[in-house]
Amino acid sequence: MTVLTSADSGSIARGAQILREGGLVAFPTETVYGLGADAASAWAVARIYDAKGRPSFNPLIAHVANIEAARREAVLPDAALKLAEAFWPGALTIVAPAAPGGSACELARAGLPSIALRVPDHPVARALISALGRPVAAPSANRSGHVSPVTAAHVAEDLSGRVDMILDGGRTATGLESTIVSFCGARPTLLRPGAVAREKIERVLGAKLAAPIRAEIMAPGMTASHYAPNARLRLEAHEIRAGESALDFGGRLTALAAPGTVVLDLSPAGDLVEAAANLFAYLRELDARGVEKAAVAHIPERGLGEAINDRLRRAAAPGLSQIPAQ
Ligand code: AMP
Ligand code: MG
Repeated sequence: MTVLTSADSGSIARGAQILREGGLVAFPTETVYGLGADAASAWAVARIYDAKGRPSFNPLIAHVANIEAARREAVLPDAALKLAEAFWPGALTIVAPAAPGGSACELARAGLPSIALRVPDHPVARALISALGRPVAAPSANRSGHVSPVTAAHVAEDLSGRVDMILDGGRTATGLESTIVSFCGARPTLLRPGAVAREKIERVLGAKLAAPIRAEIMAPGMTASHYAPNARLRLEAHEIRAGESALDFGGRLTALAAPGTVVLDLSPAGDLVEAAANLFAYLRELDARGVEKAAVAHIPERGLGEAINDRLRRAAAPGLSQIPAQ
């Protein structure tokens, strides 16, 4: 059930509690409405992808309270800090290498070694983030492929029944998405033009922003820097062959495993949201256990299964990640 309520201190506190318990709360920012979850919880973040119906795991922007909170999540070079001081709170998103002790889960980053951060300039967004006390992962609060919502009614049209709460804070001011600048390469790079003009950013930096190289313009899901396991994956497996470990779904391969075989089940109950929440951790776990070959169970191509299969296909054929997006 979705609670649609006007945003006041009571409903914001309830919203923070919902986030703490792994729920989804849509909230206004100065750009568009965001679909928020606790960025530290892979389970909650999996629910975002499920609610949006995204066919792949795109990395999400982590919304934080202030520069200090951002510094706990990312390694910010001086130039990035300069932009943060000039434009935060505001419609600028900074992408930088994820900090080792950061709280955002790998699923929120879609497996990338970098993280996107923003301090939004909207009292409701800021109160919600402060009340949670952790970063809030939030893409725009619409179904995949639909336009970004600028009113709570738009959010309800798309996501009613799919989120726990919609905080109504009126029409958003900008309607334009945030400008995204990356500090992962040799020079600051404009990944997406948005509400903060390029010229303003360049004036603060005292330098031109670079254009993204091809790999960066491609949907981030396509880039080569995604985590790829060392283990060779054999997808759609109906049996475990000699020398293989297994990545299971719904217990199918587990039932066939010889004693001593390493089997990790993404979701013994066959729940696709649980499987998405476990995916990155289990791919790493295969490597941690020194697995060289793994059979991967069939995962149904519905709901989050589409995004899970997309990610598994890239992991199975690392060369694929170099192919430009269509
Ligand atoms: P939205 O939340 O819909 O405004 O979209 C977020 C944008 O941030 C998407 O275009 C993502 O590709 C981009 N993004 C988020 N995290 C990263 C990252 N780590 N590296 C590059 N781009 C990112
Ligand atoms: Mg969007």
